[in-house]
Amino acid sequence: MTTTGKIVAVNGNMITVAFDGAVAQNEVGYAICGDKKLMAEIVRVRGTRCDMQVFDATTDLMVDDRVEFTGELLAAELGPGMLAQVYDGLQNPLAELADEAAKISKDASFFLQRGMYLPGLPRDRKWDFHPTAKAGDRVAAGDFLGWVTEGIFDDKTMPGHKIMVPFALRGVYTVKSIAPAGDYTVTDDIATLTGPDGKDVKVQMMQRWPVKVPIKCFAERLEPTETLETTVRTIDTFFPVAVGGTYCIPGPFGAGKTVLQQTTARYAKVDVVISAACGERAGEVVETLKEFPEIVDPKTGQSLMKRTIIICNTSSMPVASREASVYTAVTLAEYFRQMGLNVLVLADSTSRWAQAMRELSGRLEEIPGEEAFPAYLESRIAAFYERAGRVRLKDGTTGSVTIGGTVSPAGGNFDEPVTQATLKVVGGFHGLSRARSDARRYPAIDPLDSWSHYNSVIEQDRVEKARAILRKGNEVGQMMKVVGEEGTSLADFTTYLKAEFLDAVYLQQNAFSDADATTPVDRQREMFDVVEKALGAEYGFAEKDETRRFFLDLQQTFIDWNDKPFGSDEFKSLKTALVQKIDGAVR
Ligand code: ADP
Ligand code: MG
Repeated sequence: MTTTGKIVAVNGNMITVAFDGAVAQNEVGYAICGDKKLMAEIVRVRGTRCDMQVFDATTDLMVDDRVEFTGELLAAELGPGMLAQVYDGLQNPLAELADEAAKISKDASFFLQRGMYLPGLPRDRKWDFHPTAKAGDRVAAGDFLGWVTEGIFDDKTMPGHKIMVPFALRGVYTVKSIAPAGDYTVTDDIATLTGPDGKDVKVQMMQRWPVKVPIKCFAERLEPTETLETTVRTIDTFFPVAVGGTYCIPGPFGAGKTVLQQTTARYAKVDVVISAACGERAGEVVETLKEFPEIVDPKTGQSLMKRTIIICNTSSMPVASREASVYTAVTLAEYFRQMGLNVLVLADSTSRWAQAMRELSGRLEEIPGEEAFPAYLESRIAAFYERAGRVRLKDGTTGSVTIGGTVSPAGGNFDEPVTQATLKVVGGFHGLSRARSDARRYPAIDPLDSWSHYNSVIEQDRVEKARAILRKGNEVGQMMKVVGEEGTSLADFTTYLKAEFLDAVYLQQNAFSDADATTPVDRQREMFDVVEKALGAEYGFAEKDETRRFFLDLQQTFIDWNDKPFGSDEFKSLKTALVQKIDGAVR
């Protein structure tokens, strides 16, 4: 029998419910509001009362209104049909939601239809199931039963979308029967498995999984040693991200967090990208939605959207589903990881997620911590990033989830709880600087403050030498502001120009130029060789003007070089020209 309850208090999107029977933390229930059922999640249980956050506006909800509990935790639907979808934080497909809303009322607002929830996976669509397991096989959670064709998953570019034994099954099962190749919906039975207790379970292509619980059907966790190629030079060379690693991008408003995330979503060498647009302005999200289907994925030659899932919770949507959205995103990512794929989760911005937590905590009247964030802020942030990782699956192949989150601290002050809690757990820090973005030096990743624990695509000692020049150049630049150019030695001035050169030709990368937006690792290595040569040379100039002219000319040629297709004749001849210019100026 399902548990029911009655509302005893309404406080914003929080309700307190007196219930009969048993309920569990994070269990889902529905508050009955007239002819609508509003979805809610239990966030605290005390005796025979529980507090629930409602994923919708609570207008008209009153004391004594009924609540029906489901006995299920907040869960995502996993299976074919997720790629190319745009979901809200509760995995409602937004396009269909808009269609449904339009049927009810002509002026139904896209986001504001209360109490309307749609299945995350299309129920009517049929998929071409190809069984790979056979009767008599011994299988366990996560093992492959077959595959279907979906989007990027076809015979040519990628092995199919794998259909797996539900992750929730415990122990070893025997395949009793499996459906023959053919077309099935996600809810059709495709296999019968006999459990350790002798009981049969029927398995479908769709399974449900509680979003706040990590999926752990793997053999072991691996060290994130391999560099994840983002094709952003500052990142791959100076502040690398690892396959299965974690990183954060804190930065003030307008410093380029979203643009950087979108560039990464486009060009990073991963199989699937899950983009959680969390609490940002609707305009930015709409931009992504318009652009992505038109962009061709260099890896598959197909629309980028086919390997992308967008979880979208703009600032105008209910705050509680914003809290859920990062968990939904990472759960979907773990599902694809189980197939042996590399998945990138981009959360923009985790500050909005933390604010949702703060709002909830305030309503629960918990003892506030720093800046009124709850005391468990740190552990929640840590638990989220811990779901990243590279794993060896039970069949020996590997899969990974990489997580990159932006942080948008008020006033760009990194000394605030969300940034600090994040910095404790991530492996890479790409701090965006207001000074750089004001100077339009994009990406505005601060080359002195940022760091990474992961492996670069260039040898570490070479990177360190280049960074040392940036640091020294910056010091000279500061000093020059005081003493002027005249008061600066030629040697110091040359270091300053070297640092500016490195910044201009390598660190700065125009996200909106076709040629420059993406630099594959091979090209980065070739570029870095030339930059290194220019930085390491002892020049024979007698005076500052001459040195300045030389570097300006070198910089211009280099920027021309950046615009040429990799490996083309023009590319080769400009490289020769650069090397000759440097050699010709050496003492
Ligand atoms: P944030 O998300 O940090 O508030 P955005 O990512 O929206 O900031 O960037 C704000 C603006 O800065 C963009 O609209 C764009 O004009 C500019 N910008 C950011 N990054 C780049 C880049 N890599 N190249 C060129 N322009 C950029
Ligand atoms: Mg932004």
